[in-house]
Formats: sequence, structure tokens, C-alpha cells
Amino acid sequence: MRPEILNPVFAEVEVLKGVGPQVSKLLKRLDLTRVIDVLYHLPTGAIERIQVPAASPALLGHNVILELTPYQTRESRSGRGPMRVFASDPEGNTISLIYFNNPGWAKRSLPMGENRIISGKLEAYGDEWQIIHPEVAEPGKGPAPALREPVYPLTEGLTNRRMGELAAAALERAPELPEWIEQSLAARECWSAWRTSLALIHREPGSADARKRLAYDEIFANQLALLLLRQSQRRHRTVPLPGTGELTAKLRLPYQLTGAQRRVVGEIHGDMAQSSSMLRLLQGDVGSGKTLVALLAMLAAIESGAQAALLAPTEILARQHFATLQKQLDSIGVRVAILTGREKGRPRESVLMGLADGSIDILVGTHAIFQEKVAYKNLGLAVIDEQHRFGVSQRLLLASKAERTPHLLVMTATPIPRTLTLTQYGEMDVSRIDEMPPGRTPVETRVISEERLGEVIDGVGRHISNGGQAYWVCPLVEESEKSDAAAAGERARLLRQRFGEEKIGLVHGRMKGPDKDAVMGRFASGELAVLVATTVIEVGVDVPNSTLMVVEGAERFGLAQLHQLRGRVGRGTGKSTCLLIRGQTLTDVGRARLALMRETNDGFRIAEEDLRLRGPGEILGTRQSGEEAFRVATPEDVEALAPIAQSDAQLLLDRDGGLAGPRGQAARICLYLFERDQAVGLIRSG
Ligand code: ADP
Ligand code: MG
Repeated sequence: MRPEILNPVFAEVEVLKGVGPQVSKLLKRLDLTRVIDVLYHLPTGAIERIQVPAASPALLGHNVILELTPYQTRESRSGRGPMRVFASDPEGNTISLIYFNNPGWAKRSLPMGENRIISGKLEAYGDEWQIIHPEVAEPGKGPAPALREPVYPLTEGLTNRRMGELAAAALERAPELPEWIEQSLAARECWSAWRTSLALIHREPGSADARKRLAYDEIFANQLALLLLRQSQRRHRTVPLPGTGELTAKLRLPYQLTGAQRRVVGEIHGDMAQSSSMLRLLQGDVGSGKTLVALLAMLAAIESGAQAALLAPTEILARQHFATLQKQLDSIGVRVAILTGREKGRPRESVLMGLADGSIDILVGTHAIFQEKVAYKNLGLAVIDEQHRFGVSQRLLLASKAERTPHLLVMTATPIPRTLTLTQYGEMDVSRIDEMPPGRTPVETRVISEERLGEVIDGVGRHISNGGQAYWVCPLVEESEKSDAAAAGERARLLRQRFGEEKIGLVHGRMKGPDKDAVMGRFASGELAVLVATTVIEVGVDVPNSTLMVVEGAERFGLAQLHQLRGRVGRGTGKSTCLLIRGQTLTDVGRARLALMRETNDGFRIAEEDLRLRGPGEILGTRQSGEEAFRVATPEDVEALAPIAQSDAQLLLDRDGGLAGPRGQAARICLYLFERDQAVGLIRSG
């Protein structure tokens, strides 16, 4: 239960003065639904104003506060152009006040012949002086414009002044909280208390110390949660699974392990031989051969008499893993089964029975394999593939439910910059596959304007008439799955007209699992020449004969996503090509992304750049789920502060593992403040 002291900050925004249904709707657009959201909606800068008696050329380009007398109004004849109000200063200079809309309101607040305090940016327009959309106050009435005003991110209909008032109201409700930061650290860094720091940064957006303290709070909560997770996993004794090598020896592989594969398999087997659970993150770029590593880990579990489960993020991927594993394992007597949302009735029953009586060795599936009432006889190892949809919250949830934790191996193809590894996977040990299987030729990437779509289609035609296969990816359209599917459908129709109905397949997120699989199967077998798809093929799909990837609307994808997509080709020994088709208008970020894709195939480099271009929240697609994204901390903060926060949190847990003392209690409040409620459940009692 959240401590009472936090109730005022977790109250709905409606408790703030002046927030009715109207304002609350506007706030919702900014994702501000609770007082805490308003508290952490920080100003991005401040405008400085100069108070002067009269206008002068030296003031052009500055924000000024002036007392003026309006003397004439000119409205545009059509009613659509701007309204101008001419006003004079005490020295007789004329300044025109321009309003592009809302002249009704402006007119009322600027009565002719009366003095008004005007503030805004003084600009030259030809030989006139003007202020566009000035703020107006009546002398002696209401608050005068401030010399310095913090500037907030806004939405239409919400003024900056209003936002400032809301922040002030939220601060008024914020309690003083006990300090969770270690005293000597706070002293060394000259950090003020939490509430003081918040108040300070709303007043002085540039205040570096206040900002850094607030960033540290988030990072500390994150590190503490991860350590609690690690601790709770380690606390559970588990069965060591050293393996015997018996099954592995029977395995017939068409190739040798790469050095990197051999090394990480060694690390994993080493962990599994221990009696505390393995918690290991396996990083390896797309195509680096993680599946085989997972297979060797699972075999060790089975040799030791346990079962293994492999969790995939999508049904397509689950089926593909199932097929691969079955092919390799059937002959050596290892029994593999699949369970997804699709298995129902009899087949499902028989899988459940096989798991319970131990006749199934490996279960492959989607989240169904952990969430539902699936009882294993002896689950020893859980492998989670493509974990970027398996974030800290899900891991906390799994840990808070599990009675005995199996060994856990999490695999990701999203190259994660070092700075993020600590905040996203701080509780895990990390293995990296930093070497590709031999014989791969790097994918050649080209960026092409959409005006040349016709040439691209011709190119696809030549490619498939030479026996090649190709992917054609269509982007998200306005984030709606439906229009998404429609765009892909449209493209498939065009290609079918051109190349024949039977050569072109289509998959999108709207299709039912079996239909999707049927199409994928026909593509994998070579029956279909082109697979038109939405991003459902982003993760994991493996058809080595497909050596051409076309991505439409490439500027709309993130770098990590483009890298994943491109990783679908270049899997065989033949030369592969990736054509990134871009729209006619490009933002600077879009241009930079595409240029980088053309320049490098190095996933880690792409990830670092992605982080730089977009910030940490988006890189792993976590912004949507909102979980690991920090509100204040930047990647630079994380780099500088995460190691400190980690050792600070570790020290605290070493001294007070139950978080029962005064600082421990404060740290609990910090966890709740940053909504790590599940982590609190993992604190050791007594
Ligand atoms: P990912 O790491 O992206 O999951 P996969 O496990 O799907 O990669 O492997 C990509 C391809 O490389 C597969 O076709 C796989 O059979 C092949 N492969 C894996 N390991 C090796 C190896 N040591 N030598 C040659 N090919 C390999
Ligand atoms: Mg994979």
C-alpha cells in the first residue's frame, strides 16, 4: 500500500484550484492526469523580460514590458487577416500590437486611450515596430508580467501563465518527504531536499543542481528496484542444472559454433550449474545466432532432468522456433511442444498434460506459457526471446508471482547502449555475441525517394524473375492497425497486378494467427516470391533465400526498427540489398537516421545514435508502455549517475535489507513515488 504521505501527489488533477472538466481535458492531452504529473511537467526554459519606459532600437528582438496607450484599431477587411492595434509609448513612438486570431478578446482588453501594461517581443517590420500576440495587463490590477517566466510545454488552449499557476498549486500540495539520498552524497553535490528542488526548478528552470537531484531520484528508484529484483531471484535456491553433454553430443549441426557462441554458451552453462538462479541477458545482433545458444542452454536443462520453456513475443516467431527446434531435436528424442493463444480444446489439454507429467521437455510459446495456469512438472530454465517487450515491470511482476525461480535467460537483438544496460537490466549479468557467423556479406543499403517507386518495382521484378525473393514492408499509417493493414493491402494489390496473383503474399497484424502462418509458410518454402507485410515481420523471422528488403516510408520508422527489418535479409551467403524508400519531406532527424542506415550495419553504433537522436524512452519502444522512460534524467545523467545510484542502493540494502530504518523507510517512499510498487513487494521481511 502506498504510504499516506504520498496521497496528495497521487490525487487527480481535479483537486487543483482552477481545474474543471475543461482544463482537465487539456491537461490530459499532455498526459497530466495526477498532481504528480503536473509536478514533473517541468519548464524547458525561461523568458527574460526587460522593463523599460519606452521603446528603442536597442530593444529590438528582446522581450519587453512597456506601458502603452492604444489609440487606433485596424481590422483586416476580409476578417481573416490579423488585427492591428496601434499604441504609443510616453516618448511618442508607435508600436503595433498584432493579433492573428481572437480579436474580440484583444479588443476588449485594449480600450482606446487607456494605459495598459504590454509585454512581448519587440520586433521591426519594415520601418514599423511591432509586438505579436502581446500579453496585456491593467496597471494596478492583477499580477504584472514577471521579469522572468518559466516556459512550459503546452497544448492549444492552455496558456503558459495558466500552466505556471497549476505548477504552483501542485507544489503547494507536495509534502516534504524524508530524505532517501545518502547524506554525504547530498552534501557533496549540494543537493536540496526533494520538494525544495522541485520548487526551485519550476522557478529557475536552469538550476543544474535541482535538476540533477531530481534525475538522481529516478535513477535511484530504478536501481533500487533492480537490486531488489536481483536479490529476490538470488534468494530463491534453485536446482543446479550442470548438464551431462549427452544430448549435445548427439546433436548434428550443419556448422561450427562461432567463437562468440562458444564463449556465451560457456557463461550460461556456468550459471546454470549453480544453485542460485541464473539471471542473464544475452545480447547479440540480428542474425548472430542466438537461437542455437538458447538450444544448447535448454539441452543442458533437459540432460539434468528438468524442463525448459522458450517465450517468444509473437505467434509467428513462436511457430518458427517450434519448427526449428523440432527439426533438430526430434531425432535425438527431445520432445518439443507449442502453446499459444491458438491452441485450444484437445490439443491444448494434451500439451498441459504433457507438461504436468514431464513427457514434454521443451515448451515454446507466447506469453500464454507463463500467464495462464500452466503447471510444469519441473521447469528448470526459462528463455525469453526478443525481450524488448519484456520490460522491468513485467520482470518485477513475474518475480513477485514466482514461488521458485527457474534459471532465466533473456535474449535481445536490440543492441543496447551501455548506459541503458544498467538502467534497463541492472539486475542481470550480461553476455554478448560480438561476432557474426562466417560467410555473411554485409547488406547494401540504398535510400530512394518515393517518386522513384516505379523503378523500385521494376527492380523487384528483375530480382524475382532471377529466382530471388523479397520482403516489402509498409509503415504504420496514423498508428491505426486498420489503415496499416489497408496500406499493405493496397501495395499487395498493385504488385499482384504487376507480377501475378500467386507470387505475392500479404501479412499484417489484423490477420488471424493460422492465416498469417500459412502465408509465412508459403514464403519460407519459396512458393511466394514477395511478402508484403506490416512490421509484424520485424522480429526474428528467418528466410535466408530472401535477399531483398524494401521498406516504404522508411523515415517513419525508428533506427532500431529499421535495423531489425534490415536484419531479415543478409542471412544467407548471397549478396543482399535493402531499399529504404523515403517520403518527399524529411525532418532533420529523419534524414540523419537514413544516412546512418546507409553508412553502417553495426547495430551497436546504430543504437548509440538512436539514443542520441531520440532520447532513451523511445529506443526500445518503451515510451508507449511508459515504463523505463525517465521524466527528468537524460542519457548523460544516466551515464554519470547510474553507477553512483547502484552502489548507493547496494550499500543501503547491505546495511538494512528490510528497508526498515529511517533511510530505508524513505527509500520505500521513493519507490512508490516512481511507481515501483511491485519492487516494494520484493523487500525482504524481517
Ligand atoms: P538471431 O540471433 O537473430 O536469433 P538466428 O539464431 O536466427 O539469429 O540465426 C541466424 C541464422 O544463422 C540462422 O539461419 C542460423 O541457422 C544461422 N547460424 C547460427 N549459428 C551459426 C554458425 N555458427 N554458423 C553458421 N550459421 C549459423
Ligand atoms: Mg532470433
